[in-house]
Amino acid sequence: MKTLSAEEKQQADDLFESIFEHCKGCKEKDNEEKIRNAYELAYKAHNGIRRRSGEPYIFHPIEVAIISAKEIGLGTKSVIASLLHDVVEDTDYTLDDITRLFGPKISTIIDGLTKISGVFDSESLQAENFRKMLLTLSDDVRVILIKLADRLHNMRTLDSMPPHKQYKIAGETLYLYAPLAHRLGLYKIKTELEDLSFKYKEPSLYHEIESKLISSEKKRAAFINKFSLPIIHNLTRHGLDFHIAGRTKSIYSIYHKMQTKGVPFEEVYDIFAIRIIFKAEVKEREKALCWNIYSVVTDFYQPNPDRLRDWVSTPKANGYEALHTTVMGPDGKWVEVQIRSNRMDEIAEKGYAAHWKYKSTKDSEGELDKWIVKIKELLKDPNSDALEFLDEFKLNLFTSEIYVFTPDGKLRRLPKKATALDFAFEIHSQIGEKAIGAKVNHRLVPLSEILHSGDQVEILTSDVQTPKREWLEFVTTARARSCIKNAFKEERKQAIALGIEKLETSLNKIGFKQNASVMRKIFEAYDVTSKSELYCKIGRGTIDLKDLKKIVNKKRQNKFIRYWQLQFSKSKGGKAQEINKQLPFVISEGNENPNYLIASCCNPIPGDDVVGYINSNEQVVIHKTTCQKALKLMSSQGDKIVTAKWKAHKIMSFLATIELQGIDRIGIMHDITALISNDLNVNMRAVSINSLDGVFNGTIDFYIHNVEDLEMMIGDLKKIKGITKVRRVESIEEVI
Ligand code: MN
Repeated sequence: MKTLSAEEKQQADDLFESIFEHCKGCKEKDNEEKIRNAYELAYKAHNGIRRRSGEPYIFHPIEVAIISAKEIGLGTKSVIASLLHDVVEDTDYTLDDITRLFGPKISTIIDGLTKISGVFDSESLQAENFRKMLLTLSDDVRVILIKLADRLHNMRTLDSMPPHKQYKIAGETLYLYAPLAHRLGLYKIKTELEDLSFKYKEPSLYHEIESKLISSEKKRAAFINKFSLPIIHNLTRHGLDFHIAGRTKSIYSIYHKMQTKGVPFEEVYDIFAIRIIFKAEVKEREKALCWNIYSVVTDFYQPNPDRLRDWVSTPKANGYEALHTTVMGPDGKWVEVQIRSNRMDEIAEKGYAAHWKYKSTKDSEGELDKWIVKIKELLKDPNSDALEFLDEFKLNLFTSEIYVFTPDGKLRRLPKKATALDFAFEIHSQIGEKAIGAKVNHRLVPLSEILHSGDQVEILTSDVQTPKREWLEFVTTARARSCIKNAFKEERKQAIALGIEKLETSLNKIGFKQNASVMRKIFEAYDVTSKSELYCKIGRGTIDLKDLKKIVNKKRQNKFIRYWQLQFSKSKGGKAQEINKQLPFVISEGNENPNYLIASCCNPIPGDDVVGYINSNEQVVIHKTTCQKALKLMSSQGDKIVTAKWKAHKIMSFLATIELQGIDRIGIMHDITALISNDLNVNMRAVSINSLDGVFNGTIDFYIHNVEDLEMMIGDLKKIKGITKVRRVESIEEVI
């Protein structure tokens, strides 16, 4: 514990007093008192604590409060919350103390800040934390804004951190915080966060660009002056109150351009930009003044018609307003001219907080609200995983926007490359789900049609339409994607519920209950591998239960026989093959009306040595010669035994099962399945592998022609690294 020296205390007090210079509302009687109380509490709470730099901790919350007031334009509540933002997390004070002293509103904000910093500063997955952070948007957007102020101050003081932490914090800032600041329209903060991150991530590159910027400064200033002179002269004559500023590109954005365009510094820097900021008495005059100034500029310099951007008539989604044009300046250099009012400029620099300040009606906050509603929808979706969410968030962030119109002329904003279907989901999830086509500018187009700015779009729907899987291949908005996924999930859930009900009713009717043996018969008969698959198929009607009685009453046969019977089920009628005991019985698929069965005790397949036993139905039951049961029959009922042989063929495949055991390792499943399906060209039917504590065992069902192929495959499987045991399973019952 090292309490503050008198000098340090004076410094802290002075710094604190400067807050009032940046926040008008803070000086009102009640507010000022509360802010002073907050400072006092923070001072007491953090007393004796110092940051890594040796600086007293209290400087940090004061600086964060100054950023909130001065650079984001936030008011009293945020200043108080900023001063107290680390109190609950780092000191003995509790949330209850805050509620008691400052009321529930402040307490909610502090709670939000404490929660997100708890998840944020941990080592856990960044994206998941980011998602949690955005969730707090729902409580109060001030939580995010103060968090950004906090991060900005931490970035400004990153020097005192050890290098590996600098690197991590800088990366996180560049990846998460800067885009967030951008999305909230906080351009200045975004730029500073980017530059600071870049400085710690790529110090040498940063300093290289920085020094080049400094050395070209004079030349740049001279050029801008030359360019601006006639404009200044003319606008002054028109009696306009304005100023012109050369716009310096940030170090990071120069670097970024050099990287993405693959061009040297000089080429990036050759693009000049100026900003004309004017004062307007009333908001209603701003638009006309923008165009007046545009007209003056283009009197002197030729504009590039492709580069006119009117964000005055249609502001950007994050609230940005300005008129941009690019004109041909002296010496044949392109110059970008940004024209804005004071109000627009403040919004551009400070983002939404500034927006609220100028808010006369409710709707200016509307855009941010809409965005937050969208984010919340995405976050609520349990399907979306955090990383995917983040990708979509960033994707939606960086793709530029297009503006399209509804049939009744309302403007909708979509990311570039959005399709007609994205538009449908943008209007309403139910319109999206029922969409069958669209009319773009009265022309009929498919749902996958990519929209362009200015398109008027009408969605055609049908009550019988349902969402299609292939839709996911062409929708681009996160909203459409999650709506479609949700619809599938919902449909499946309903189908399963219906299936459960249907099956139960049907079983009840015939006096059966769902038990393991009944279910096993049903699984086999309908060729399903899980209960949910079964219920789902019943619910959707792809499985009807007409034969249910037959199925559950049937004596259980093994899969092999079922398959065998399937193969021959077509050949009906004709006389049964005569059994001549003197000749070997030929097991062949060519038989008109096969009168044999494959014994379920030993499961012979072509190539096995077999014998036949003539049962009471005059059918030949085929056993392996090594089968215990067959041996017994041969010795006791020799007169009913016939020799049997397989007719050579390679047309038919037989179902066989093998069992595998081994030591689990990454890629072993792939090696196994690749061998079976590619190398030996056999057809896998079902795979069931269990892995426990690094040991796995399982079975694979597949179709194979004969014993030779089977043995070859077993031999090859044994060669796979990690496999310790491979064997053919004689009877299905063994593994169930
Ligand atoms: Mn902090």
